[in-house]
Amino acid sequence: MPYDDNNIFAKILRGEIPAKKVHEDDHAVAFHDLYAKAPVHVLVIPKGKYVSIDDFGANASDAEIAGFYRAVAKVAKDLGLSDAGFRTIANTGLNGGQEVPHFHVHLLGGKKLGPMVSD
Ligand code: 5GP
Repeated sequence: MPYDDNNIFAKILRGEIPAKKVHEDDHAVAFHDLYAKAPVHVLVIPKGKYVSIDDFGANASDAEIAGFYRAVAKVAKDLGLSDAGFRTIANTGLNGGQEVPHFHVHLLGGKKLGPMVSD
């Protein structure tokens, strides 16, 4: 699937719609999910145009991949999630229930979370 420049996270990256950002660096931006599913629910996205984790893993540079996952770890630590634990999810494609076609990792925490997968 080609990258869609009109997806909502592309608009957030371009500053066309607002987001409650918690982190930004050369490779990644993190912001609160608008419809939080946990006391802490942050999305971390790469700045590059990657549709999904498979696109990112196959086509991003080593620097982009390293920078992105370092940002995920830093945001978890900065938000105070690391000691108690948290969950990361990257929904992918139709079966994964991915709604926004710009690769993102959900960072969920702030309480003991329920089952990883329901129904
Ligand atoms: P997906 O289902 O693609 O893994 O997750 C997309 C996430 O983006 C959902 O958790 C949804 O709540 C969140 N989301 C959708 N639109 C917006 C928006 O305009 N702003 C923010 N901050 N999050 C959004």
